[in-house]
Amino acid sequence: MRTAVVVGAGIGGLAVAGALARSGWQVTLLERADRVRPDPTAVVLWPNGVRALRALDLGAGLDAIATPLPDGGVRRPDGQWLVQPRPTPADRMPVVVHREDLHDALIAGLGERVELRTGVCVRTVRAEPGQRPSVGDGRQRFEADLIVAADGTDSEIRRQLAPESRVVSSGCAAWRAVIPWYRAPRLPAEAPVGGETLGAGYRFVSASLGERGSSGASSRGGIYWVATAAGAPRPEPPQTQLTLLRRWYAGWPAPVGELLDATDPADLVQQEIRELRPLPRSYGFPAGPGGVVLLGDAAHAMPPHLGQGACLAFEDAATLASLLRESRLPDAVAAYDRLRRPRAATVVRQTRRMSAVLQARGRLALRARDAALGAISPRLLSGAAASAAQWRPPS
Ligand SMILES: Cc1cc2nc3c(=O)[nH]c(=O)nc-3n(C[C@H](O)[C@H](O)[C@H](O)COP(=O)(O)OP(=O)(O)OC[C@H]3O[C@@H](n4cnc5c(N)ncnc54)[C@H](O)[C@@H]3O)c2cc1C
Repeated sequence: MRTAVVVGAGIGGLAVAGALARSGWQVTLLERADRVRPDPTAVVLWPNGVRALRALDLGAGLDAIATPLPDGGVRRPDGQWLVQPRPTPADRMPVVVHREDLHDALIAGLGERVELRTGVCVRTVRAEPGQRPSVGDGRQRFEADLIVAADGTDSEIRRQLAPESRVVSSGCAAWRAVIPWYRAPRLPAEAPVGGETLGAGYRFVSASLGERGSSGASSRGGIYWVATAAGAPRPEPPQTQLTLLRRWYAGWPAPVGELLDATDPADLVQQEIRELRPLPRSYGFPAGPGGVVLLGDAAHAMPPHLGQGACLAFEDAATLASLLRESRLPDAVAAYDRLRRPRAATVVRQTRRMSAVLQARGRLALRARDAALGAISPRLLSGAAASAAQWRPPS
């Protein structure tokens, strides 16, 4: 039986571990934390991410927890439209999912053949021709035919195999929360949840997770919001961070203020936004009968402006699983690199163009940003949507 070690039980690691196990592999999943636990926030999955999850046989689980996200348009802080909402065909509509529900669905997909070991922090990797690849935590070594590095932005495995790729700040921080329905404000019809608002270096996006009062499959419904601001994360406690957010977003069109007011500081998740520059020169490192591959944020951490990080992690997992079913192991490692690097580079390029537009500060830059956004947004957005729509798992 073929064996794999997957390092990191984030959404990328869970997805690929389950996929390999369902294809008959014996999988060991190593996680440095004591518990496998996501942020209590949500994630938007674009059609490419949804398609990847379906290719991974996780479509039914997803359908039970996902809420469609119609286009809500883009407004300026004075309420004027930068981009009007447009009707989206059902097959191109993204969905929004609570991360805890997504984790539960991915864990349910692990099955019997995955040995999950928590509290194991991988510190070393060995990937040399002629030797089975392995990782170690300083006490034990874990050898397998294939090692999948799904250990996130600060991947130790990537640091050793692709040291040219560095983690750098993207120059902004993000705050997220889910307001449970029982605490969510009742909003007037003219200020619905959904869509985004863009100001000078500030951005606010909201989405409904299920419907108030509906007894859907998830008990974690509510209103999800994410605010991005140029600059560093704040050292103050969450209550003060919320006060700052209310000040920064004061006067923005409803429901921005209402959602910030209804947020419990205990639910606030702050994060510095970071990315890889440059991307690793390879995503596949041959060793012994197989090798080591990079997957998810370990391979292509990027700012969340297009909401594609998790989607790409699922694409990675679906591509790897498909290649491993169709080809010999060394060929699959090489093909994975060939297929995934250009795809990630394209999405990272689009994300960086969005970063330049979103993080414009100063009056001139802002005017240029508004003009640029008005002019290029449909192209940018349809470009992102087109690459999303075009992606197909290899058959
Ligand atoms: C504000 C924000 C909003 C976002 N919104 C979206 C969105 O709407 N849509 C979207 O598609 N993406 C979004 N993303 C991106 C998405 O969250 C990430 O791309 C995705 O979670 C990456 O998953 P991962 O499994 O690759 O990495 P991670 O989730 O970082 O998981 C890595 C795992 O590896 C473990 N680990 C790390 N080092 C070691 C080690 N040495 N040994 C063992 N285990 C280790 C960690 O503990 C962790 O469990 C967003 C990101 C941010 C910051």
